[in-house]
Amino acid sequence: MRVPIYVVNMRGQPLMPTTQHNGKRLLKEGKATVVKRCPFTIQLNYATGEATQLIKLGVDIGFTNIGFSAKTDTLEVISGTLNLRKDVSNKLEEKRRYRRTRRGRLGYRPPRFDNRKRPEGWLAPSTQHRHDSHIRLVETLATLLPITYKRIETANFDTQKMRHPEITGVAYQQGELQGYEVKEYLLDKWGRKCAYCGNTNVPLEVEHIVPKSRGGTDRVSNLTISCRNCNLKKGDKTAEEFGYPHIQKQAKTPLKAPACINNIRWRLVEQLGAEHTYGYVTKYQRNNLGLEKSHVNDAFVIAGGTTQPRCRPYEVIQVRRNNRSLQLNRKGFKPSIRRQRYPLQPYDLVKFEGRTYRVKGTHCLGKRVILKNVNGKDKSVAIKKVELVKYGKGLFFNLS
Ligand SMILES: [Zn+2]
Repeated sequence: MRVPIYVVNMRGQPLMPTTQHNGKRLLKEGKATVVKRCPFTIQLNYATGEATQLIKLGVDIGFTNIGFSAKTDTLEVISGTLNLRKDVSNKLEEKRRYRRTRRGRLGYRPPRFDNRKRPEGWLAPSTQHRHDSHIRLVETLATLLPITYKRIETANFDTQKMRHPEITGVAYQQGELQGYEVKEYLLDKWGRKCAYCGNTNVPLEVEHIVPKSRGGTDRVSNLTISCRNCNLKKGDKTAEEFGYPHIQKQAKTPLKAPACINNIRWRLVEQLGAEHTYGYVTKYQRNNLGLEKSHVNDAFVIAGGTTQPRCRPYEVIQVRRNNRSLQLNRKGFKPSIRRQRYPLQPYDLVKFEGRTYRVKGTHCLGKRVILKNVNGKDKSVAIKKVELVKYGKGLFFNLS
């Protein structure tokens, strides 16, 4: 698949991306220099006009993955998924444990746990990290591409419009945009599992509590979610006859307020100055285009993509260096190995025998370093023989 080359002008502002062929030519003629390896970005050495096209960026918000895709009217220019870190709350728990033992060593100190106030708009650290990661990703993409327009999927369905579908009598019709919204609403309401057997790992269908053959309507108050098997087994019985009288009652009570994640969704829309769309619209359009369900494809649809040629997606990871400083402790001893900051760490970029490599890790107390892919193999080298080119931290774009 196509891998575009990103171009920045003399002032470092992004221009339209170019092809591999064109990028190679510019580099050969000395008209450009490489400024970033991955994604491959070049900087022009001569002044140009800023003839840019409209680039639309779509972001698929997620808990574990963020999908992104940017496109012009004619082709997709970048796409990929960011894998969010999962260790934030564990790390904070660890930090808390160290702090507690440290405070315990100091003899008596008055308790101070109850004079803290949470500022307005406070989020749990793991949620805050998710929020910040979305912003950081979009900001990074904006250094590669002149993005003119952003769009985010805020919720699965329009919570304003679908306020009381049970009462207002919204109807379900298969294969319709409205039908998708009703189904998303029902999935949320019934906890994304079969209402009868509780199965989650099966395709779920919309199910009529009082069957249509016996005068049941398509209204939300008569619908639930079930798996194929239960749906067939139930046949033309009502839920009560099938042995689930509580379901009939539950169907009439509206869905409770949306969860806290919606909070960060709206915050992102505001902070990024983006437009918003709904999950049911994305799903409907993705199915119409015949695309597989994935974060990249969702983002492509959110960006308004239709039949544009796609590019090779990136897999983005977040890398953090160990920042513990190499200071002596209170008694003047060197810190323990655990506390030591090694001069080189994984993902750092180093020069060895005239070529650059990524560091895989260190050993022998940081005196030797393992380099990735030296003539096809990992190689252990004395740290004196390598030279640091760049610290490895932040977002890493790997071609998948
Ligand atoms: Zn079932």
